[in-house]
Amino acid sequence: MPDAQPPAPLPPGSTIGILGSGQLGRMLAAAAARLGLRTHIYCEESGPAFDVATHTTRGRFDDEAALTAFAGAVEAVTYEFENVPIAAAQHLDRFVPVRPGARALEVAQDRLTEKEFIAALGVPVAPFRAVGGPEEARAALAAFAAPAILKTRRFGYDGKGQASLAPGADAAAAWQEIGAKPSILEKRVTFALELSTLVVRGRGGELAFYDCPANTHAGGILRRSVVPSGLPEPDLARARDIARRIAEALGYVGVLAVEMFYLGAAAPAPERLMVNEIAPRVHNSGHWTIEACVISQFENHMRAVAGWPLGATERHSDAEMVNLIGAEGLDWQRLAAEPGAGLHLYGKHEARPGRKMGHVTRLRPKSKVSAA
Ligand code: AMP
Repeated sequence: MPDAQPPAPLPPGSTIGILGSGQLGRMLAAAAARLGLRTHIYCEESGPAFDVATHTTRGRFDDEAALTAFAGAVEAVTYEFENVPIAAAQHLDRFVPVRPGARALEVAQDRLTEKEFIAALGVPVAPFRAVGGPEEARAALAAFAAPAILKTRRFGYDGKGQASLAPGADAAAAWQEIGAKPSILEKRVTFALELSTLVVRGRGGELAFYDCPANTHAGGILRRSVVPSGLPEPDLARARDIARRIAEALGYVGVLAVEMFYLGAAAPAPERLMVNEIAPRVHNSGHWTIEACVISQFENHMRAVAGWPLGATERHSDAEMVNLIGAEGLDWQRLAAEPGAGLHLYGKHEARPGRKMGHVTRLRPKSKVSAA
């Protein structure tokens, strides 16, 4: 729904619908509760968010009657995962505002659309080519003549649907291995570090930024986020500007995460930061904001969706967030006893390998200058 004449903020007691039942939904619901806002989770499967929300509905995303009933029970809708079917978001938007809107989903769901959208804004991305079949995969790898990564255009996450290719590798076989689906081939970038920019945009277009964390991945899954990142301030300002341009071009409302590669101070300044992908939602690399900021990414997302003023994003401490993956979640007794550790467990029953079971945030006094 267009916000031509911004309506009044949703008052405490209003119910915000959340599509998706994962840990992000759980933390959004907890943050909403702090403001006296209620939440209603809608998802095909029950999950960590079901334990903490005011209302829950198990329904399919293609069940229009169930979606219509859900829309009738909430004042606004948001989502906690980017693979929400666009038709479901569009259907809900006929009844209640969906924030961020369907456009952000369209861009984030397809790596080719996403790369083209970002490149069209003049923001650097890794060189890429669309790959529609085995021959195109072969030709694209030959054209790069460099290490590359084949990624499915859709439904890839946490390193899934990807194949790493050395020059001269059998790209056609790799295309089969990742499911013979429309893909992109991306040149492998040599970066100094990975970071994300977390921006929140309010309903009136106002912006607030969290400090950019440096992120470490293993096996395509985020392991650790650290603030400060150590990046020089001019590069951090550039990172914020990139995120601003993307958020504004999408007419975005809520928290947007922009994942980036930092190529290092030796690279020419305008090319030092490259966008890898965007996540139109709160993000794992921003979990430390719960402990290290007055207002967390989760609360600010709900504030934006409800049309409230955005809260302070300043960081009062240095912070490190470590994900608890698989069996690491079983170590909760030791972590709960660790002085100063902020332990979060998502209430998942089975500690399967690769599954995010929780996270720990550790704070340190804020350093005066950004470490190199
Ligand atoms: P993605 O699924 O695109 O987020 O990729 C997962 C991880 O793979 C990233 O966080 C990077 O560590 C790595 N990666 C993805 N694309 C590239 C690239 N073009 N060059 C170097 N590393 C990459």
